[in-house]
Amino acid sequence: MTKIKNHIKKNDMAEVIAGKEKGKRGKILMVFPERGRVLVEKLNMVKRHTRPNEQNQQGGIIEKEGTLHVSNVMPVCRKCDAPVRIRHQRLDNEKKVRICAKCGEPFDKV
Ligand SMILES: [Zn+2]
Repeated sequence: MTKIKNHIKKNDMAEVIAGKEKGKRGKILMVFPERGRVLVEKLNMVKRHTRPNEQNQQGGIIEKEGTLHVSNVMPVCRKCDAPVRIRHQRLDNEKKVRICAKCGEPFDKV
């Protein structure tokens, strides 16, 4: 089983590094740690059939994001403008932050 190692979080910019969406970027909408999967905005769209309801009288087919395996996405560093590895750094105040392993740019607001 794959555990999410806390390197990717909601609202991160991420790039898909494998699969049919390879090279595309989007914002992380949701993380499912127990399943090791993430939802990325506008990526891996899948068609879902819906029944008619109050909002949508017709029902029919809607497109929704499908989950991607977390090992197939990498967080994008603002400074490097590339998918990078994350390093965890402990601050003086014991707070842990994520930084870019390449340039040291912090991912989280301190
Ligand atoms: Zn960087």
